[in-house]
Amino acid sequence: MAKYARLRERVTADGSVPPERLFEAPAASWDDIRLVHTPDYVEAVATGTLPREAQRRIGFPWSPGMVERSRRSVGATVAAARAALGDGIAVNLAGGTHHAFADRGEGYCVFNDVAVGARVLQRDHAVRRIAVIDCDVHQGNGTAAIFKHDRSVFTFSMHGAQNFPFRKEVSDLDVNLEDGTTDNAYLELLARGLDEVWRRHEPEFVFYLAGADPYEGDRLGRLKLTIGGLRARDALVLGRCRGLNLPAAISMSGGYAPDIDAIVTIHANTIALASELATCHNTSGC
Ligand SMILES: [Zn+2]
Repeated sequence: MAKYARLRERVTADGSVPPERLFEAPAASWDDIRLVHTPDYVEAVATGTLPREAQRRIGFPWSPGMVERSRRSVGATVAAARAALGDGIAVNLAGGTHHAFADRGEGYCVFNDVAVGARVLQRDHAVRRIAVIDCDVHQGNGTAAIFKHDRSVFTFSMHGAQNFPFRKEVSDLDVNLEDGTTDNAYLELLARGLDEVWRRHEPEFVFYLAGADPYEGDRLGRLKLTIGGLRARDALVLGRCRGLNLPAAISMSGGYAPDIDAIVTIHANTIALASELATCHNTSGC
């Protein structure tokens, strides 16, 4: 998609990501993907034997390119999660495929990058207690279902009540937003939600889905957040992680504004803030 190429150009041009800190996304191993996804589903994606109905649900047809993209999207989140353990914060310039369930894909999501990242960190004994803070405008239904019976991973989703998916799953904490929600109301609910996450869970690691689709100019979002409001949202989530010295891995998630420049600006703002906080972490300077 055009937005990803432009985002990469923007964050290198504006200096928020120095070239030596930008890495090519590695493909996730099948073993890592199978930590979350069922062997039958993984096999069907790998071998191109997904039934037509399953492809329709995902929203695009199977191709070798689709498999490669999906594996790399997961691989980048796994790499970001590992990098965050050392640097405090790291970003996948794509990812956030939160509509993927263990046994199926949906809503343009094939594999669930954040769920695989969480399971990899746990398998490697890097951390045990994890929180997923999902601020994409659509509910993280796949993530909620995957961790439904797992008390080690707390799922928090803040999303449009009237938006896709129309049949929602139950996260550990869901905040359903009315159409037209504006900056102040959103930020207040988010601050309260974050308080609740930390009151109920005490995570050692955070995955943050920084969707650009709550933006007022988004084609699908139905909310009314400004670019400044989205920046304040990022500052709230990442500032909380930084304040508690918690590592965080960020995925970009959705963004469907006809004005691609606006989407790129929203994501680039997230990355600039992440970069600033990572620098603080490495120099203990802030
Ligand atoms: Zn979305």
